[in-house]
Amino acid sequence: MRKLLQILLTAVLFTAGAAAGEKPDVSVCLSGADDLYTVSRAETLASTMLRGAGASVEFHGENSRFCRRDNGQALTITFVSRLPPGLARGTLASAWPYEGSHIAIYYDQLPPERTYILAHILVHEIAHMLEGTIRHSDFGVMNANWSRAEVAQMRFRNLPFTELDKMLIQAGITPSSHRHVSSSASAIPQYHAERLGREP
Ligand SMILES: [Zn+2]
Repeated sequence: MRKLLQILLTAVLFTAGAAAGEKPDVSVCLSGADDLYTVSRAETLASTMLRGAGASVEFHGENSRFCRRDNGQALTITFVSRLPPGLARGTLASAWPYEGSHIAIYYDQLPPERTYILAHILVHEIAHMLEGTIRHSDFGVMNANWSRAEVAQMRFRNLPFTELDKMLIQAGITPSSHRHVSSSASAIPQYHAERLGREP
């Protein structure tokens, strides 16, 4: 088991993302993170990537005033230190887009150089929630399987969104299409586990 960088959690974590005074399209509460330096850098990069798709995101620590309030509209991302039983090794994250609020990231499954792939995982899973679906694209950040070459290049160039993904994200953040509800959700599996970053 890879030893994780241990950084003491403090009551005041961090808030990053949408510009000051701007109401974000989506707010995220993070819990369980122990490598705050890496997570903070990944948040900043993820915010930039999502803004490129037209979505502003704001991240909050679990102990922040925002997350201590009852925020029914906020997404919750939980960093899980060990992969739960029943999930295949290499599963990096799970999302529940039809439930609409929860994402889990399995920190022990991430490669040693975590910042860039963690940013892409944040973007991928948040985009699932905004799009309200578990669908994937044939390439880019919403592909289900990133090649080793793509993972290696993430530090130099972010994986792009497809135009369809941008359209779905925009549709998901418009007031008329609430991201928590999918009319066809009952016909589609409710649970979505990722094995990103591995060869197909
Ligand atoms: Zn996915």
